[in-house]
Amino acid sequence: MGETNWAGNQLFTAERILRPRTVEQVQEAVAAAPAVKALGSRHCFNDIADCPDGVQIDLSGLESAAGLDADAATITVPAAARYGDIAGQVHAAGFALANLASLPHCTVAGTVATATHGSGRRNQSLASAVSGLDLVTADGELKTYSHHDGVVVGLGALGVVTRLTLDLVPAFELRQDVFDGLPWESAYTRFEEIQDAGYSVSMFTNWARDTIDQVWVKGAGQPGEDFFGAKAADGPRHPAHAAGIPGGNCTRQLGVPGPWHERIPHFRLGFTPSVGDELQSEYFVPIRHAIAAMEAMRGIGHLLAPVLLTSEIRTVAADELWLSPFHGGDRMALHFTWRPERDEVRALLPVMEERLAPFDVRPHWGKLFHRAADYPRLADFRALATELDPGGKFRSPFVRRHVFGEVKSS
Ligand SMILES: Cc1cc2nc3c(=O)[nH]c(=O)nc-3n(C[C@H](O)[C@H](O)[C@H](O)COP(=O)(O)OP(=O)(O)OC[C@H]3O[C@@H](n4cnc5c(N)ncnc54)[C@H](O)[C@@H]3O)c2cc1C
Repeated sequence: MGETNWAGNQLFTAERILRPRTVEQVQEAVAAAPAVKALGSRHCFNDIADCPDGVQIDLSGLESAAGLDADAATITVPAAARYGDIAGQVHAAGFALANLASLPHCTVAGTVATATHGSGRRNQSLASAVSGLDLVTADGELKTYSHHDGVVVGLGALGVVTRLTLDLVPAFELRQDVFDGLPWESAYTRFEEIQDAGYSVSMFTNWARDTIDQVWVKGAGQPGEDFFGAKAADGPRHPAHAAGIPGGNCTRQLGVPGPWHERIPHFRLGFTPSVGDELQSEYFVPIRHAIAAMEAMRGIGHLLAPVLLTSEIRTVAADELWLSPFHGGDRMALHFTWRPERDEVRALLPVMEERLAPFDVRPHWGKLFHRAADYPRLADFRALATELDPGGKFRSPFVRRHVFGEVKSS
């Protein structure tokens, strides 16, 4: 069995994985290879990190330490640092990252390359915290970028990022409260209030039951025992609790205050995040379409539920990053954690995308989807990729298909 992604559904077809120890070795490896792709912690669910007949570059052995600049309120980290690795250092210095994903296991470079996000009406994607990065381009040159909206969500198509600088905010505490059984009527009529009820709010459903299974509220204050008709949970919950998964690998709940990095992710670093044996998809629609998009998914709830472990509804604030799904406006995120049933999931994706098409839908770059979206700055991104990589050594089948539109999506 060859190398695979984290979920095991994607067999990598690269000839070799190189593990350079210095930036110079990265430069030499990129310059010498006919086809290259950087590899993070492999948490994507599609072929975005694969490099057929070329080399994948794993930067986890790069000899480089994180450097925190308290005056500038930034931290510069090696590309393969995981959020869970740097959070303690950031917190100890009195700072925080404004937001985190549901898991702290992913590399910073791999996370921002796909515009990975958490939740929160005023929280942007994790890519928005990037204020600078170093990029090894096709000819082996090391370029440094500062506040460039085109390079951050790079999908691995522009080069190999060796380090990144992230903006920090003052450290803060949060408590996490989970509520069971939110009436759909509340979600429809008070969506904005519910999302505003915490720093980060997530709703979990299988789209077929009469109520939303759980609402997770990560905030400063006690949201009360009755949350828009949902009842405070009587014990720790797992997002897929309704599918029988126990809450053991989750961050502390039941309203106990704790540091930002131990409350914002749903899952703890030392444990398998989510379920493990699963697939994932995620779609983003503008907030103004939130209710209609939820209704559209409920309309096919009978098709979704048999294949779902759980589904998460979140919000993400707008940014200006060229290939960010949140480019140009705040969006609602509809995430799907599937049972590992590839054929069933593959058959459902076009059906879901057709239902969501009227709502200017954009898929998550790192999860399973059928058709990529058009982006206002797509032509600029293509031009940048061509300028940095005229020979196309970073132009993998995924990039050809979904960015350059060269082959129809499968
Ligand atoms: C259990 C689980 C929970 C998740 N939760 C969330 C969530 O809450 N929110 C969310 O938005 N997503 C979530 N995801 C998706 C995940 O955050 C993304 O797939 C993310 O991109 C994975 O990062 P990675 O380090 O594993 O990158 P990989 O999957 O290894 O690579 C992803 C992309 O980044 C590129 N890349 C990696 N390193 C570099 C580099 N040094 N230079 C240039 N390009 C590079 C690769 O070439 C590839 O294109 C989850 C995934 C899992 C498995």
